[in-house]
Amino acid sequence: MQACAGQLKREGRTIALVPTMGFLHEGHLSLMRTGRERADTLVASIYVNPTQFAPGEDFEAYPRDMQRDLAMARSVGVDLVFTPDDDMMYPLGFQTYVRLEKLPRGLCGRSRPIFFRGVATVVAKLFNIVQPDIAVFGEKDFQQLVVIRRMVKDLDFGIEIVGSPTVREEDGLAMSSRNAYLEPDQRPAARSLYEALRQSQAMVRGGERRAEVIIAAAERHIASFEAATIDYIAIVDPDTLEDMAVINRPARMALAVKVGAPRLIDNMALGQ
Ligand code: AMP
Repeated sequence: MQACAGQLKREGRTIALVPTMGFLHEGHLSLMRTGRERADTLVASIYVNPTQFAPGEDFEAYPRDMQRDLAMARSVGVDLVFTPDDDMMYPLGFQTYVRLEKLPRGLCGRSRPIFFRGVATVVAKLFNIVQPDIAVFGEKDFQQLVVIRRMVKDLDFGIEIVGSPTVREEDGLAMSSRNAYLEPDQRPAARSLYEALRQSQAMVRGGERRAEVIIAAAERHIASFEAATIDYIAIVDPDTLEDMAVINRPARMALAVKVGAPRLIDNMALGQ
């Protein structure tokens, strides 16, 4: 892959990269379509990265279907799919990680303390291997997008990071590979994340500015579904990810809720 990328660069071709963990859905494909428009060569990576899963998380159970993924990638014009294996990415003796100081502390980092170290490390490796001019990430994983933007700035990668809007099911549920694990009777609880976010947006439009009040209402809504267990609900500054008490400037509401087996995350802009 690295040799191939080097050859493409020497030929003066631009490269767009869309990193994924596979089990592709329309959300991934929308990122790929954006990448397709923005560069001469479109590379997608499919790799379930073990260093971002803690023991007891769903690394083994993460859904995988390479043949289906390859057909879907082809259908949106991906030129190259990079599918490394663990020995290639983390050979014996591997010991260099990328760790951000502050951004990973809150939100998902609280219940997944090693997650962003794994993400930043694997994305840095993918950037060095694929040498893209641009890379496309989903707003669905908002904290991840902010972490990657920061890493690219801090480590001078010189890659344009493009954020792409969240693609949703018809009922509002954000698409996710992990939705495959939802039982039909858990669907209302899964949908409550979207409903809570929309309700919060409506409250801000209606003049409510107190984060605490908006979060409490979201909590009430989600907790009314027995299948839902809230991990966190937060309203944060979209750049620093620090909690905001008063919504007097653009803010991001983010939440994580366990519904049955999967832990679902979602987020939306408030007050723009
Ligand atoms: P994943 O395979 O879950 O690691 O996701 C790979 C990329 O797709 C990440 O940049 C995600 O943010 C993005 N992504 C996942 N789900 C969605 C979605 N529903 N809408 C937009 N982007 C998404």
